[in-house]
Amino acid sequence: MHLMEMLRFRPVPGSAVYLGLTRRCPLTCRHCSTNSLISSEEHDAGLFLGFVDTFTAEDHPEIVLMSGGEALLRPRLVRDIARRASSVGTRSYVASGMFFARTGKIPRLIQEAIDEVDHFAASLDVFHEEEVPRSAVLKILRRLVDAGKDVSLQLVGMSDDDPYLAEATAEARDVLEDRVPMLVGLVGASGRAAEWMPDRRTLTHLPLSATADPCGVAAWPIVTFDGTVIACCNQAVVDQGRNAPAHLKLGHSATDTWQTIRSRSRASATLRAVRTIGPRMIAQDAGLSPPAEQCAACYALSAEDPQRKAVDLVERPGFAAMELGVQQILSSGGPVGYARRYGSARYADMVTLGYRPQEQPCAV
Ligand code: SF4
Repeated sequence: MHLMEMLRFRPVPGSAVYLGLTRRCPLTCRHCSTNSLISSEEHDAGLFLGFVDTFTAEDHPEIVLMSGGEALLRPRLVRDIARRASSVGTRSYVASGMFFARTGKIPRLIQEAIDEVDHFAASLDVFHEEEVPRSAVLKILRRLVDAGKDVSLQLVGMSDDDPYLAEATAEARDVLEDRVPMLVGLVGASGRAAEWMPDRRTLTHLPLSATADPCGVAAWPIVTFDGTVIACCNQAVVDQGRNAPAHLKLGHSATDTWQTIRSRSRASATLRAVRTIGPRMIAQDAGLSPPAEQCAACYALSAEDPQRKAVDLVERPGFAAMELGVQQILSSGGPVGYARRYGSARYADMVTLGYRPQEQPCAV
């Protein structure tokens, strides 16, 4: 599965699900958004396996994305989730900081896990490079891509103009002979980066009008480290777990099935309105003075007035057509549009590297 095939589903609510398999990580990158340490929390594998076992051949997410912390600290779990998902038609993805690349080898269990997933994504940035040399990461990726594996690089920089991004992407393109797509983003002020980075909007949006600013991140739920299921992958919300704002909490993997989670995500009036007109407009319509930052405005929507307003909005004639229209607009930019919207615009085209175009069904 090429990165392009995955990103094609990104605007479609309930088309995929993230699993945060562990907060543990052997690396201590200075920008780590999950504030991970080797001693961080890790919960029972059953929380994730049981949830994946609720996927059925008739009703399953298109993609399951495994991350951490460092997901490959649990290689058997990654392998088993990928197998079980595949048995009902769900494709799988795992992201890794590639701690094992320091040895120049892929340990057997990690190789088994990588073999089992449909896509392997490696992180590369100036902070990871303090822990794992770039040459070691590229050497392992080269080996994987030579063996026919679908892989990608996830890079982050401080800005579009960060010289690191220019230099690292050029070397990766050279070593990997333009066969590996790259999703390039900007460092956000969350986790350990919040200690040294000035706060700024980490989600940049292209407004559809002067006031509407749909959130495209609330489409894929995430099963967090303790099994709480959150509507979006905003790390600040994920970190709140059970204490997250009520409208962003979809349930728990120990008690809720995939079908229940997906239907809550799709049916919630607040989430539908957040995805269609954005949280600031809902808050404003409910008589609140919304903060300028989109996610900060979203946190306020758990109160009674905005909840009522969201129900009122989605019940209005024409809302469903507007909702579909927004999804079509978000989809029309395709994977490159997504990369441009939520990452570094300058490098957005790099998601296409190694992609062999073929007829793809429209995701919406
Ligand atoms: S606007 Fe709300 S749903 Fe969207 S990313 Fe921010 S917190 Fe999550």
